[in-house]
Amino acid sequence: MTPEEFRTFGHDVVDFIADYRARVAERPVMARTAPGEVKSQLPSSPPQEPEAFDVILRDLDRVIMPGLTHWQHPQFYGYFPCNGTLASVLGDYISTGLGVLGLAWQSSPALTELEEVVTDWLRQMVGLQDGWRGVIQDTASTSTLVALVCARERATAYSLSHGGLQSQPQPLTVYASRHSHTSVDKAALLAGFGRDNVRLVPYDDDYAMNPAALASMIDEDLAAGRQPCAIVATTGTTTTTAIDPIAAIAAVAKRHNLWLHVDAAMAGSAMVLPECRTMWDGIERADSIVINPHKWLGAAFDCTVYFVRDAQHLVRVMSTSASYLQSAADNQVTNYRDWGIPLGRRFRALKLWFLIREQGVAGLQARLRRDLDNAQWFAEQVRATAGWRVLAPVTLQTVCVRHEPAGMTGDWVNRHTIEWAERANRSGRVYVTAATLEDRWMVRVSIGAELTEREHIAALWQVLRECAEDSPALDRCLQT
Ligand code: PLP
Repeated sequence: MTPEEFRTFGHDVVDFIADYRARVAERPVMARTAPGEVKSQLPSSPPQEPEAFDVILRDLDRVIMPGLTHWQHPQFYGYFPCNGTLASVLGDYISTGLGVLGLAWQSSPALTELEEVVTDWLRQMVGLQDGWRGVIQDTASTSTLVALVCARERATAYSLSHGGLQSQPQPLTVYASRHSHTSVDKAALLAGFGRDNVRLVPYDDDYAMNPAALASMIDEDLAAGRQPCAIVATTGTTTTTAIDPIAAIAAVAKRHNLWLHVDAAMAGSAMVLPECRTMWDGIERADSIVINPHKWLGAAFDCTVYFVRDAQHLVRVMSTSASYLQSAADNQVTNYRDWGIPLGRRFRALKLWFLIREQGVAGLQARLRRDLDNAQWFAEQVRATAGWRVLAPVTLQTVCVRHEPAGMTGDWVNRHTIEWAERANRSGRVYVTAATLEDRWMVRVSIGAELTEREHIAALWQVLRECAEDSPALDRCLQT
């Protein structure tokens, strides 16, 4: 494709996306695709001859679009909000179009320096003190893996430079709440701790980590000859957005000199609001933090920011020193290849830069506050309606609901919940996620898509009531 052809088709692609965003609300939110349906419409081998670009675009419309669930739809309440604001989409286009890579500062100085600037803007926006340094990673999962590798290396005085974990006399242990994200468990396993050394700490009535239980587990491990190494606390757990008490957990970490990593993947965005920052009181005593601007904040996926207190330690653990990557400027600049796992680095900072500049901090704050208000309003409607319950504190924008009609108990309610959630999703009018909380099925309503206004929440509530209060499971149960 020549630059002139690119200009023509590029305009078509921008029109395509602009039309998509302008009319996304008219589509059914969830894909109505059967397993294998998309694949069956695609050739199983690659084309031998070049194809015309407009033919490819037509296939995009014909084959791919019907197979999408629409995350940018105003009635999307599944998983978590993953807002790709259009300004950040353009930043992403430019990043891809420029096609530059940050292998080293010299390989594209502006790529590195913009990343330093925007991660520092984000630091200020969430109220972290000077001294934290940020790096953009693909996902929170990767960042938590990096955090646990750094924890391991601090606890073992850089065992990687000799026998690694295999040379440690005592097994190292990691602690996280039972409600922590699965990425924490995965990171601990990949970092070599081993299943037997991952401790799931009990939680309290609000589903937040219980610091007393944490302290006892650490004492037990010490008594058994193990070496406690790291704690992962979560600000905003995935299921209920529970808030682990960072200050109390940090006190335990300090007592035993353990690494404290805070997973604020989803809720970190809320820290842009000064009134939310009490939720992570004690954060300044953490060693590392992960925030996903690609969730609620609005940076197009993927864009995670990993903050560390001790950048030197991170570099010591992650650095490589291939001769072809060295330059005379090395001792004056940041080389982000030494701040994480991949060598190659995309120009992700552009999408954060575009997002923050185009919306301004005030614009981002207004949207976040709108979503918090909408969540409270929705929870009030649920609480005020007979047969409906809100199951967990509504700390942010996620509301966990359950419909428990009179006369229906136990497993019937579970089956009923799965069924009505599925009906709501299949209706195409809304998209929610059914999940378990303490072995009971419930429905998570995760509010915060960019286009979601109060009127959409009112319509959501209408749909949920229709689907639940008129459900076949309800009829079957009442007949038995
Ligand atoms: N941590 C929390 C609290 C999350 O809610 C999620 C996402 O669902 C993750 C981590 C994983 O995020 P990522 O997909 O960026 O690895």
